[in-house]
Amino acid sequence: MSHAAQIGYFADSFASMKKILVANRGEIALRVMRTARRMGIQTVAVYSEADRNAPHVRFADEAYLLGPAPSGESYLRIDKILEIARHTGSEGIHPGYGFLSEQALFAEKVQQAGLIYIGPRPHAIEVMGSKLAAKDAVKPFDIPMVPGSGHAISDPVEARRLADDIGYPVLMKASAGGGGKGMRIVESSEEVASQLERASSEALAAFGDGSVFLEKYIRSPRHIEVQVLADHHGNTVYLFERECSIQRRHQKVVEEAPSAFVTPEIRKAIGEAAVRVAKACGYVNAGTVEFLMDADRKFYFLEMNTRLQVEHPVSEWITGLDLVEWQIRVARGEPLGFTQDELKINGHAFELRVYAEDPENNFLPSTGVLHRYREPQGRHVRVDSGFEEGMEVPIYYDPMLSKLIVHGRDREEARQLLIKAITEYEIEGIATTLPFGLFVAQHEAFISGQFDTHFVQNYFTADSISQMRQPTGEAAGIMAAYLHHKDGQLLKLPEDQNGRWYDRRR
Ligand code: ADP
Repeated sequence: MSHAAQIGYFADSFASMKKILVANRGEIALRVMRTARRMGIQTVAVYSEADRNAPHVRFADEAYLLGPAPSGESYLRIDKILEIARHTGSEGIHPGYGFLSEQALFAEKVQQAGLIYIGPRPHAIEVMGSKLAAKDAVKPFDIPMVPGSGHAISDPVEARRLADDIGYPVLMKASAGGGGKGMRIVESSEEVASQLERASSEALAAFGDGSVFLEKYIRSPRHIEVQVLADHHGNTVYLFERECSIQRRHQKVVEEAPSAFVTPEIRKAIGEAAVRVAKACGYVNAGTVEFLMDADRKFYFLEMNTRLQVEHPVSEWITGLDLVEWQIRVARGEPLGFTQDELKINGHAFELRVYAEDPENNFLPSTGVLHRYREPQGRHVRVDSGFEEGMEVPIYYDPMLSKLIVHGRDREEARQLLIKAITEYEIEGIATTLPFGLFVAQHEAFISGQFDTHFVQNYFTADSISQMRQPTGEAAGIMAAYLHHKDGQLLKLPEDQNGRWYDRRR
């Protein structure tokens, strides 16, 4: 019996929850519905006018229009979503990520309506939704934290005094922040007052809450996060870490599990710290505890995300668990069918977020129609997407087209598979982060695992991609194959004598 089967991955009987509504769109709505269907659960989609013909709408057993394209008039309409849930007899609501997924009020209203919220309790969402409240909540639990002000500041004199104490550079952050927004690096005393004013008005505009706080700026950090899963019976486990240091604008683009930098001892320590964070807020369901790790492998708590993360598939692949299945099972009261000791890491997984952005033009959003859209196939490849050939990329929502996920027996095999999958992925009509992924996957720093959150800043320029087209070295060969393939001609990649291209090792 496989390990996955031993720990209950292939459960065949599901008692309650016959129908769920998925309050989201795109790849995540589809991904949630696929698991629900496998579990014999009926699915209800909601959609905006811009998404009338979207794959998630067609996939669902039932689909209902929410309203016009802007999310405020559609995907954020709590009243409408609850009305549709009642009308369709849905028993649970899955929020996906983004939109309403981190609104405690939504979770609360779902419960008040007598439905099951497939996620944590409103209280946990509330506490962890504020970076400052989160730090307060975990303080008594022996969690290492980045030195900082610990509270919101609005007085420039106090800010300057605190920043001087912390030592420069200092990072100014919005307490309600998210998506890398509202962060400012302050290099000296003189800048504190002006940066405080800017950061605070930016935070107010973006999050409706102007509170900002100070944190020591860690010079060369890695972003390491831990997937946790907790049931209603007091069991909390960690599903190991994800390395998410390849970022642009403080936002992740390439993720992997496990991290090449984390040792077994650190893995255990950071995993157990993540479990303590989860317990600090009475956490139930799937969640992610984010840490920064410095060059000495010291880690510091950043925040907790109280939902399924975009990058959850890399953890699924190395653990053999379907996180959405476990979200649903936990939500309906089942205990986790396994203990920490039964969880093992199997191989290595990478994820590349395929954004409709132009890496040759400062990652600016790229809009248009997907004239050609062909996904790579194979049993080492998983593509979670919400798009099809001929579709237009709407300007209203997150510009992520899909997630390309690969799994290999070890990091090097997975890396080769990532390169192969990128070269086989055909997207025409808009610019994407695919060539950026190719750049990352072939970069020495990435190959060696020696990189931090400044990877893009340190190594990537607007010319990097055109340089890959220059006729020098292996990189050029792969890029040429990529372009060749894009032109609709035969793809030729180096193969070993068994014809298994991905098994070739350096
Ligand atoms: P958000 O909620 O906006 O995503 P996070 O607190 O999760 O903000 O931080 C996002 C990213 O910003 C991190 O992954 C890291 O790259 C950078 N960052 C955050 N805090 C620090 C810090 N104290 N020092 C250095 N980099 C930081």
